[in-house]
Amino acid sequence: MLPQHRSELPLQEALAQLAEAVAHLGIDDGTHLILATPRRQLTVSVPLRRDDGTVAVYTGHRVQHSLTRGPAKGGLRYSATVNLDEVRALAMWMTWKCAVVNVPYGGAKGGLTLDPATLSSAELERATRRYTNEILPLIGPDIDIPAPDLGTDERTMAWVMDTYSVHAGHAVPGVVTGKPVALGGSLGRAQSTSLGVAHLTLTALHERGINPNGATAAVQGYGKVGRGVVDLLAEAGVRVVAVSDVNGAVHSATGLDVPALRKHVAESGSVVGFSGGDPISGDDLLALYIDVLVPAAIEGVITGDNADQIHARIIVEGANGPTTKAADTILAGNDVLVIPDILANAGGVIVSYFEWVQANQAYWWTETEVNSRLRERLTAAWEAVHTYAHTTGLSLRAAATALAVKRVAEAHLFRGLYP
Ligand code: NAD
Repeated sequence: MLPQHRSELPLQEALAQLAEAVAHLGIDDGTHLILATPRRQLTVSVPLRRDDGTVAVYTGHRVQHSLTRGPAKGGLRYSATVNLDEVRALAMWMTWKCAVVNVPYGGAKGGLTLDPATLSSAELERATRRYTNEILPLIGPDIDIPAPDLGTDERTMAWVMDTYSVHAGHAVPGVVTGKPVALGGSLGRAQSTSLGVAHLTLTALHERGINPNGATAAVQGYGKVGRGVVDLLAEAGVRVVAVSDVNGAVHSATGLDVPALRKHVAESGSVVGFSGGDPISGDDLLALYIDVLVPAAIEGVITGDNADQIHARIIVEGANGPTTKAADTILAGNDVLVIPDILANAGGVIVSYFEWVQANQAYWWTETEVNSRLRERLTAAWEAVHTYAHTTGLSLRAAATALAVKRVAEAHLFRGLYP
């Protein structure tokens, strides 16, 4: 039976987007069913001895949505609210993201239901190593290659790489991407998602005939993605008027002093309390009268309930799945240009692919080479999606998903059904 889509949960959102692409492309029911179903999923228990001697048990998941075009690729998320359906949705989006920018991967995602802020560094290391050990049979440079996501970073990737390498008996840098440069990480990887988001923001401003110099922007989320986007937009002359994190938001109509904000967050751990702006709520940030809104935190923040209050002319999705289908319809009616996640934040997976290629060849590129190849690939993907949207009348999201689904479905058809 084909999946039903009603609610605004990420998996329902992802399945509804797939169904729309399938209908547009005229794909048969059998192939639709294959594309809607994860290829493999593993749920594991992760017991952890806390620093105080007590034992806690967390739940971990690794989902491989597709292995058709190459090894599965996708981030590892640490959050108290991670659940299997969310991981399945994120894994499916990774498949489309890799296909739309034409890197030879399928999609995967992992998650551990813990809030990293509640654990010490030593506890995080033990939990990461135990989780890695539990999913060991599923990962590897030719099978499935994790990367950082919400709540994880290059240090987490170093622990995953070391645990895997100890079991293999030799260093296997290609098992993860987003690892430290000292371990075979790529120059430019840390900034790559932000660079892609900023690059496509400038492209979208150009598309709308808005001069970036003096254009206004707000960024939701000040983590690995959001922080870099704020810096890069400010460098390009865009006035960043508001920034938020999980604790709250700050606003300054004349533009935030970005280096001072970065210093404040480095010292205090949050954008809240920054003296160069006024405190506002996270919801108020979404409703500002601005040129560009960059959601760069979590999924499902722009919904049927608040989309009508969005006054940005452009939304560039740094986060995965921030906009629900109901919101998409309202935003399209209000002529808001939405650059969809699978394109907007694909800079990270493009440079992850470069990192994997470099690790497998044991030959490393300069940062200039990495960044120029990133721009080249992202621009090619943008042009393909933009042209397809114009010729078919689809939204950019529907066009990007259709192009991606078409590539994956074609690969399925050529490989055939075994046995
Ligand atoms: P991160 O953990 O480094 O940062 C997340 C930020 O979001 C933090 O500032 C946190 O305080 C904030 N946040 C969390 N909940 C919030 C809320 N309700 N309102 C406002 N802010 C909130 O994570 P990240 O790696 O920057 O990832 C952010 C998003 O980008 C996620 O959706 C992730 O899947 C997506 N993404 C990340 C990468 C990458 O390379 N890291 C690549 C592609 C997509």
